[in-house]
Amino acid sequence: MTSFGHVIDGEERESADGTRFASVDPWTRQPWAEAALGGPDEAGVAITAARRAFDEGPWPRMGLAERGALLHRLADLVESHADELARADSRDMGKPMADARDQDVPRTARNLRFFADHARLSTSEAYPMDSGHHAYARFEPAGVVTAIAPWNFPLMLESWKVAPALAWGNTVVLKPAEDTPASATILARLAVEAGLPPGVFNVVHGYGPGSAGEALTTDPRVDRITFTGESGTGRAITAAAARNLTPVSLELGGKGANLVFADADLDDAVGWSIRAIFSNAGQVCLAGSRLFVQRPVLEEFTARFVAAAEALRIGDPAQDTTQVGPLASEEHWRKVTSYLDDPGGKVLTGGRGDGWVVRPTVIADAPLDSRVHREEIFGPVVTVTPFDTEEEGVRLANDSPFGLNAMLFTENLSRAHRVSAALRAGTVWTNCFFVRDLRAPFGGVGDSGWGREGGTFSREFFTEPKACIMAVRP
Ligand code: NAD
Repeated sequence: MTSFGHVIDGEERESADGTRFASVDPWTRQPWAEAALGGPDEAGVAITAARRAFDEGPWPRMGLAERGALLHRLADLVESHADELARADSRDMGKPMADARDQDVPRTARNLRFFADHARLSTSEAYPMDSGHHAYARFEPAGVVTAIAPWNFPLMLESWKVAPALAWGNTVVLKPAEDTPASATILARLAVEAGLPPGVFNVVHGYGPGSAGEALTTDPRVDRITFTGESGTGRAITAAAARNLTPVSLELGGKGANLVFADADLDDAVGWSIRAIFSNAGQVCLAGSRLFVQRPVLEEFTARFVAAAEALRIGDPAQDTTQVGPLASEEHWRKVTSYLDDPGGKVLTGGRGDGWVVRPTVIADAPLDSRVHREEIFGPVVTVTPFDTEEEGVRLANDSPFGLNAMLFTENLSRAHRVSAALRAGTVWTNCFFVRDLRAPFGGVGDSGWGREGGTFSREFFTEPKACIMAVRP
């Protein structure tokens, strides 16, 4: 069976007690790989390696061009191992192979290249003072970074955290989600091959509470914690980090609102809305899981949307024609199907499929206080709710504890600006979805997170900005 170890101090290792756990392929529902199961001991060893690499090693002291070149070399290796990396994520969590290979892997390489260049080309402010002193800002690496990732875009989201942390001269201990260990180990093997010094990028596998994850958030030798996952886990990590006042960046859950106005280009709105909720089987933090449709087009939009949902090809993630695969694990399938047992409204299409598949599900007339409408389901399930006026649409969209993202479809430019400003969300897309500029802030409001990452926002988090003030003598 394929085997994945921890990667600590440049070496792939087993846990001290040799314990391993199986990774189950959600399509076959059989184990396809094994990974080393780490705990607090392995987390401690990895932090020691990262600490030593930061305090004594070349990485934080290296010129930006040299460090950037190593990250570009890693990106080259990611590209040349695209099939292996994509297969790892696809088998670990059931993502269609085509999505993993054509979207997640290229975006991973782009994350590495973007942050390598961003750090190298970054400038800082100078503050000439009336007193004659000269002040300027420097961005020093923060130190050892703990990165904790979820299972829905394993490789891509890990690189979203690891790339800026490394580019700014930090050392990293990454804990991937327990359902998706494989691609993190492969990435760390490639980092060794690219020539990153030992201890700069470490991977420890294990669970969260009482295990490797918790140890990585409570160790006082850690200088930053960057976390992507559920809002409840974000609360637990924040409480753990508070003991050492370790700064935390949180990218958490979502319940994206998607407003379709009567003047929208309906072909466009249907196409994007389908992608927004059903890609990755709805296991997307940014999913447009609350559709609000202006009443004059409610009937036509809903009919076309349901037909497009029914036309999606469900099947084996390994087949290039598959658009919707199974849910990532039995536990998650149980969670999502619990909503189908209590749909709140009228199920227009969808429901349980074979194995751990949930068919694209559209629910109409769900009360605004129902579970399906308020809670993050994290599966291919969407509610459709009518609205009359722009004000009502915005009010309904904002009525959520989450605020990660929202979308709107309209041909009215002034409305697009007005509504974008009024929506309570970290990202608002008009007439599109999932488009990202890595310079732009990314993060959420309310239960969707704390802080922003991307471009200079990542720089703020992964460095210690410092003011240097010089007396200028006559
Ligand atoms: P999760 O919170 O269950 O787990 C995420 C990671 O945290 C895993 O590696 C897990 O082992 C670890 N963990 C759990 N408890 C921990 C603890 N007490 N201490 C330290 N580590 C701990 O999330 P998940 O189920 O893997 O991912 C799905 C969630 O992630 C959804 O809520 C989704 O919206 C969110 N998400 C958010 C974004 C974003 O950018 N905002 C992106 C992707 C996913």
